Amino acid sequence: MLPEFRNESLTDFSVESNRKAFQTALEKVQSELGHEWPILIDGQRKTTGQTFARLNPAQTAETIARFAKGTKETALEAVAAADKHFQEWSHWEPEARARILLRAAAMLRRRKHEFSATMVLEVGKNWAEADGDTAEAIDFMEFYAREMMRLAEPQPLVGIAGEEENLYYMPLGIGVVIPPWNFPLAILVGMTTASLVAGNTVILKPASASPFIAWRFYNLLEEAGLPPGVLNFLPGHGSAIGDTIVSHPRTRFIAFTGSKEVGLHIQRLAAEIAPGQIWIKRTILEMGGKDCILVDESANPEDAAQGIYASAFGFQGQKCSACSRAIIHEKLYDDVVGRVVEMAQKTTIGPTKDCGNYLGPVVDEAAFNKIMEYIEIGKKEGKLLTGGERGHTGGWFIKPTVFGNIGPEARIFQEEIFGPVLACTKVKSFKQGLEYANATDYGLTGALYSNNRQHLEIARRDFHVGNLYLNRKCTGALVGAHPFGGFNMSGTDSKAGGRDYLLLFTQAKSVAERF
Ligand code: NAP
Ligand code: MG
Repeated sequence: MLPEFRNESLTDFSVESNRKAFQTALEKVQSELGHEWPILIDGQRKTTGQTFARLNPAQTAETIARFAKGTKETALEAVAAADKHFQEWSHWEPEARARILLRAAAMLRRRKHEFSATMVLEVGKNWAEADGDTAEAIDFMEFYAREMMRLAEPQPLVGIAGEEENLYYMPLGIGVVIPPWNFPLAILVGMTTASLVAGNTVILKPASASPFIAWRFYNLLEEAGLPPGVLNFLPGHGSAIGDTIVSHPRTRFIAFTGSKEVGLHIQRLAAEIAPGQIWIKRTILEMGGKDCILVDESANPEDAAQGIYASAFGFQGQKCSACSRAIIHEKLYDDVVGRVVEMAQKTTIGPTKDCGNYLGPVVDEAAFNKIMEYIEIGKKEGKLLTGGERGHTGGWFIKPTVFGNIGPEARIFQEEIFGPVLACTKVKSFKQGLEYANATDYGLTGALYSNNRQHLEIARRDFHVGNLYLNRKCTGALVGAHPFGGFNMSGTDSKAGGRDYLLLFTQAKSVAERF
């Protein structure tokens, strides 16, 4: 008997002993930086003669780690290893597979700060954001372990006289897991452990901006008792090895989270049938967002401003769920925008190893340049109200940036920027606001601040996003409470952390025996 699933609690950093423990973890991780790590296939360490480095985005002179760079050959070896171990792993009892997740979750809970500190240094999360990421990773494992146990139970069917009916959720085969760097632990853990617990073997290609936290997790699973070759760790550039693993005839499914561009490329490639392939590949694709918070004339302006600020600038706006558009009724527009600008100007910026800094760096130079280009576009499309420039030296820091008077046709209203940039738009009515909210290709998260019951009910039905929040911010989905996944070009609406998710990693077999 397992206790019921409960979300992992977050660390209270106002408590001094918690701050001290986190500081100690940061020092430990700091002392482990700068090493070179291998590829791991079939439990064997591999090098390829080529490596790539991950630099600290807050302090680019510091190397976080170097990794062996996956090649086409190692990619093929990884698929072969996953293939070799599939049958044995798929024959493990579902409960036994689930227990590896439970064990890994317990180990991660005990080493929580070490994992969070790694994300502070590798991707520039502040302490609270990193702690939330680790908590979510623990939640995914606890949740999917229980889900697999539930799916392994006899399933409700209509019984036919003289027969026994059963439905078994079987694994699919070899899965390719391709996570992003922005929830470098939680999303990686979610997609990987869902694949594994369902009985599939996996090739994990971590994001090139966050291989070190991925490596730590690989090792944790190994320590938790995952047999060699069931999970194969293949760092390397997506553009160089992605196509090999996605298009391989033995690949059965691809679980991807990342940009729309790469997601659609994977979708196209997966639809092609390679010689020798005998199945239709399944794709689970979660992609970008252009999320918005809508504020009607009845809303509480302070609550709305706080929700907008937290959703727009948490982790430098680098969340798929980040609020990049605030659409505000003209009666409250100046009030709400004024409050957001004031909070943005008070934001502390700098390396997040210092817990006094709320806003860290953006992930790398390419992201910095892309965001700065959008800021130039924004200056032509509307009015720069605050920010718009580098925030701190030594790394890729950008000040929280707010634009006003942005129309629905503007590029900064339509295109995902993925940085600390907020576009504010004034509307004449709730109806017009909702039209604007829905007027992008995406449909991931959204929020409405309102005290009007009718508006809240209309939004429930017509605000077309996978995750809608009423009178609260549009980030911070919790496993089990807010199953996560987007509509339209935001993805396949897979609802990670929900009861439907594991089904995507299985195929159901119906068996009837007549007696
Ligand atoms: P990305 O550039 O699309 O990369 C995601 C992953 O795809 C990385 O591991 C990347 O490897 C890999 N990749 C790149 N090219 C590939 C190819 N040709 N074949 C196979 N894999 C390839 O996205 P990102 O910059 O990491 O993450 C940010 C994006 O993720 C944003 O658009 C954000 O909205 C989205 N996101 C969505 C969700 C959601 O739940 N909907 C959650 C989080 C993030 P390399 O790193 O080696 O290039
Ligand atoms: Mg990328």
